[in-house]
Amino acid sequence: MSRYYCHEHPDVLTLETTIVDARPGAVVLAESPFHPGGGGQIADRGTLQTSDAELRVIGFETIDGRLWHRLSEPTVELEGVARVAVDAAFRALQTELHTGAHVLNALVYRDFNGALLTGAQLGDDGTARCDFDLPDVDNDRLRALDGALNDVIRQDLPLRYTWVPRAEAESSHGTLRSRSVAPPPTADGMIRIVEIVGLDRQACGGTHLASTGASRPLRILKIDNKGRHNRRVKFGLQT
Ligand SMILES: [Zn+2]
Repeated sequence: MSRYYCHEHPDVLTLETTIVDARPGAVVLAESPFHPGGGGQIADRGTLQTSDAELRVIGFETIDGRLWHRLSEPTVELEGVARVAVDAAFRALQTELHTGAHVLNALVYRDFNGALLTGAQLGDDGTARCDFDLPDVDNDRLRALDGALNDVIRQDLPLRYTWVPRAEAESSHGTLRSRSVAPPPTADGMIRIVEIVGLDRQACGGTHLASTGASRPLRILKIDNKGRHNRRVKFGLQT
């Protein structure tokens, strides 16, 4: 997992910065407030403005450790100073859903014998799904997590971050919560740990609320059996 500017400055959504490399329809920035997605979180959207263009940022790719921002105009080649802005409402929704996904997978891990996550996908409609390795579980027990989810929100538990060596994360069961998608190593071999204080601790590169109480209530919408091992839990924000 890469280190992103937004890990250190999650509240900075607009920035004046410099274009340090460009090709038609894409730029690399000296500093970027965008989260490029990953682990089920959808990449940020936003705008990029220079003295002679105002474009949308429509996607990202990492090449040789550098984050390229793809632009809505595929032929334009930009240089100089750029003013960039993350779509704040979209980021806020992803952050809220992603934090909810943590609370859900923390409760599944705690209440179902350390069951691991096998996949996650956030939506752009206020819903998300998490897949768990839960071969022998009665789906009604999963549906009943609804109350516990909202208890965690009511408790308003803070989230905090540390970076630990990858070997340390691997040696502690459950820290790499996703069975299939372990985060890639960083250049310096460190992994970002996200802790919901008093509840959970796991490796993650996404964006999170400052505390669980900042989330709207959640409800479990649907449980599906996906193959012999997997249960798919769909949840949503109560609006
Ligand atoms: Zn996360």
